[in-house]
Amino acid sequence: MFLTLEGGDAAGKTTQAVALERWLVERGRTVVRTREPGGTELGAEIRNLLLHGGHVAPRAEALLYAADRAHHVATVVRPALERGDVVVQDRYLDSSVAYQGAGRVLDPEEVRGLSTWATEGLLPDLTILLDVDPVEARARRGGRAAEDRLEAEQDDFHARVRAAFLALAAASPERFVVVDGARPAEVVAADVRAAVEPRLER
Ligand code: C5P
Ligand code: MG
Repeated sequence: MFLTLEGGDAAGKTTQAVALERWLVERGRTVVRTREPGGTELGAEIRNLLLHGGHVAPRAEALLYAADRAHHVATVVRPALERGDVVVQDRYLDSSVAYQGAGRVLDPEEVRGLSTWATEGLLPDLTILLDVDPVEARARRGGRAAEDRLEAEQDDFHARVRAAFLALAAASPERFVVVDGARPAEVVAADVRAAVEPRLER
């Protein structure tokens, strides 16, 4: 089973991925928890270029995310799914449609097309969208400075990203569950488990 967590920066995806992994392991599943960008050695280099390498032209940025994804799916995600493991993944193609599409104002369908090619059409069984107002998420991060040049983008960029995620969820209700990520982590985690539980093949 392929589970992805999506949402804006500081929405709590990593916290929830860790909690979900622990719960699945307690239920006897073998879990591969991973992330994009940067879920492979090559991906770590691409991530570094993307986040700390200075300006990247929007189309080059979209191709770098797609390259990271292609390698990650081919070498980590598909092998895990073929073994019957549960993959819990922090970000996937919906992030590209939202960030490179709506955020950078590229054509979202073209961005999606790149990912479809890169992944040979692999889609998650379930995508949990942790929805948080980006201004609130920024406040929650407190005084901590942005970790990378994307986090430092202006509020209108993050507002477009959030709206794009919500539109993606509305367009594919069979794949998405939207969870209000502004609540305490344990409350969010309970909603995440409730979304996953009925999909676990018994
Ligand atoms: O989720 P994570 O913190 O690992 O993402 C790193 C940065 O990359 C974030 O600032 C996020 O906004 C950005 N990102 C992006 N496009 C993607 C995935 C992540 O701009 N497709
Ligand atoms: Mg981040």
